[in-house]
Amino acid sequence: MITSADETLLRRAIGIAAAAVALGDAPYGSLLAGPDGTILAEAHNTVRRDDDITAHPELKLARWAARELDPDTAARTTMYTSCQPCTMCAGAVVRSGLGRVVHALSTEQLVELNPQSGDWPTVAQDGPALFDEARIPIDAYRRPN
Ligand SMILES: [Zn+2]
Repeated sequence: MITSADETLLRRAIGIAAAAVALGDAPYGSLLAGPDGTILAEAHNTVRRDDDITAHPELKLARWAARELDPDTAARTTMYTSCQPCTMCAGAVVRSGLGRVVHALSTEQLVELNPQSGDWPTVAQDGPALFDEARIPIDAYRRPN
């Protein structure tokens, strides 16, 4: 359930997205808030500026949280983001241990507004293969001296 306090922080994330456009960056913004609503970190999309396909704000904040917060604190944070995280960012958010994500636009709504944003390529994946060889580094890691 999205509360009015959530909407206040969500509006700030939308404001970060709007500011990103003014800077010439893509229109996506996010922030990470503690349990009392204190803003811990903010980020916007810098894919073009940094020439980095992974420079999405949600991924940047997930990496920041994993590096800077202890797991208990991370679990009590909420990410507010102007658009629903893409699959890359969603994976990072899960790995970073954040407690909750609140988004404004859903992916479907974003694609409706900007069809190009839904133009995600797919990649062929073949496997599994070479199990006996590929397991060697895994076994070595699991059973250090
Ligand atoms: Zn993303």
